[in-house]
Amino acid sequence: MRILIADDDPVIRKIISKLVSDMGHEPVTVNDGNSAIEQIKQHGYPVVVLDWMMPGMDGIDVCRAIRGIENGNICYIIMNSAREGSNSISEALKAGANDYITKTTDSIELRARIGVGIRTAQLEIELVELNRRLIYLVRTDGLTGLLNHAAILKELDMELDRGRRDGSSTSVLMLDLDKFKAVNDTYGHQAGDKVLINFSEKLIEKCRSFDRIGRYGGEEFLIVLPRTNNNEAILIAERIRFEIAEMNLNKIIQGLKITCSIGTCTAALSVQHSSALVSAADASLYRAKEAGRNCVISCTRKQ
Ligand code: GH3
Ligand code: MG
Ligand code: MG
Repeated sequence: MRILIADDDPVIRKIISKLVSDMGHEPVTVNDGNSAIEQIKQHGYPVVVLDWMMPGMDGIDVCRAIRGIENGNICYIIMNSAREGSNSISEALKAGANDYITKTTDSIELRARIGVGIRTAQLEIELVELNRRLIYLVRTDGLTGLLNHAAILKELDMELDRGRRDGSSTSVLMLDLDKFKAVNDTYGHQAGDKVLINFSEKLIEKCRSFDRIGRYGGEEFLIVLPRTNNNEAILIAERIRFEIAEMNLNKIIQGLKITCSIGTCTAALSVQHSSALVSAADASLYRAKEAGRNCVISCTRKQ
């Protein structure tokens, strides 16, 4: 682990660096507060040993600044100061330090304190990673890796809000694989799963980076198209429909072909709420099925 040591005293820097190296970690040293902040902003350090009295920003200012940086809370700060007494300890802890040591040459205590910092930082890093993973799992469909039902609807709400603020239209596409039950019945559920995965990959390939793709349920998918008007949505839907019909699925089953039907709808003054938009796209999808499948129907098209 890389540990930052900020101290204007070269002897202290040397002692702590040696200690950190002996503990099997990598010391990085700076001799003033501003350089400490620069280092933390650029590289992020899980543990920092910080002097109080330094030229420029002192240790207290550095503590406060670290807590103000994004991810600055994942930083265990040990204030190492010549000042003694509860007032100094209290001031440092209030400013954001995790621990306080009075400048000591007692390497046993220093080593133990740094050890606690490293242990705490490691746990914090694990926690952040687990949290990141949890957020991913909660939002993601397990089979396809796309956004799941709840997550895509949340994205739609966010995009509609954004669209209202900047006056741009948001469109949605509701897609459903045609006669997909027959794929399962003929080739088995596992082959069906692989088709759903290939289908999802094709959607990702054919959508723009700012589009949002979700598995609405089963073999139904919802795509949110930000800053997209009705005509553009129809063009995108047509392109997707064409690409799906052309998709080569030989690696799953030789000669297998699939198609999908797509309903589109664009947010307008009359349909502003996400549920109304999804219902309208769903109704268009239903009409696409009735019209013979493998086609795109827009909610603006008359019956
Ligand atoms: P339509 O053209 O009218 O949409 O016909 P369809 O056969 O696609 O529609 P239906 O609703 O009758 O069948 C949907 C099928 O999708 C049945 C279901 O087993 C299958 N399906 C849903 N989720 C999954 C999945 O995760 N894996 C697999 N392999 N099949 C799934
Ligand atoms: Mg279907
Ligand atoms: Mg369906």
